[in-house]
Amino acid sequence: MGWNGLFKTLVKKLGPLKALIIASEAGRVTRKYPFEPPLISEEFRGKIEIDENKCIGCGACVNVCPPNALTMEQDNDTKVLKYFIGRCIYCWRCIDVCPTGAIRGTLEFELATNNIDDLHEMVVHEVVKCRVCGKPVTTIAMKDFVLEKTRYAEEYIDLDPYCRKEKFIKAIEGRFGYREQQ
Ligand code: SF4
Ligand code: SF4
Repeated sequence: MGWNGLFKTLVKKLGPLKALIIASEAGRVTRKYPFEPPLISEEFRGKIEIDENKCIGCGACVNVCPPNALTMEQDNDTKVLKYFIGRCIYCWRCIDVCPTGAIRGTLEFELATNNIDDLHEMVVHEVVKCRVCGKPVTTIAMKDFVLEKTRYAEEYIDLDPYCRKEKFIKAIEGRFGYREQQ
C-alpha cells in the first residue's frame, strides 16, 4: 500500500472519531424535548383560537381555508362554524380575512390525543329568519354587525334574497312606475 492508500485508509478509519471530536467541541446542540420545553420563535404558527363572542358567522374564514379545516353548517335555526384541528395546517389565512378579529393564532402545536373529540371546536349562531317567507337569512350577530356599520341596511337585512329583490323591485316600481319583465 502506497502513501495515498494509507492516507485514505486513515481518513476512513478516523471519520467517526473526527465527528466525535467536532461534536464534543460544539457541545450539545439539541434539546431534551419533551423533557424540557422546545425552543419556539415568535414567528411560529400553531393552532388558532376562535372567540365566540367576536365571531359573527360570516363564513369568510371558511372560504379561504385551504384544507377545509373550517366548515359551516346551517339548518333552520342555527349556523355552526366548525374547526377540525386535525386538518389545520396553521397557515393563518383565516386570521387575515376575519372582519371582526375573532381568530387569534397561538403557539400551540402539541395536540396529540387519543380522543378525536378534543380536535373539534365549534361556534354556534342563532339565525335570523326572513320576515316575509320565514327562511333563514343570516345570523343575529351578523345582522347586528351590519346594522352597526350602516342603518340603511335596516329595511333589507332580515329578508331572504328573493324577498329582498321583490321589495326592491316594488320600491323602484313605486318610484318610477317600472315593473321588471318576467
Ligand atoms: S390556520 Fe389555515 S388551515 Fe388552519 S383553520 Fe386557518 S385557514 Fe384553515
Ligand atoms: S367572524 Fe371571523 S371567525 Fe367568524 S365566521 Fe367570520 S371570518 Fe370566521
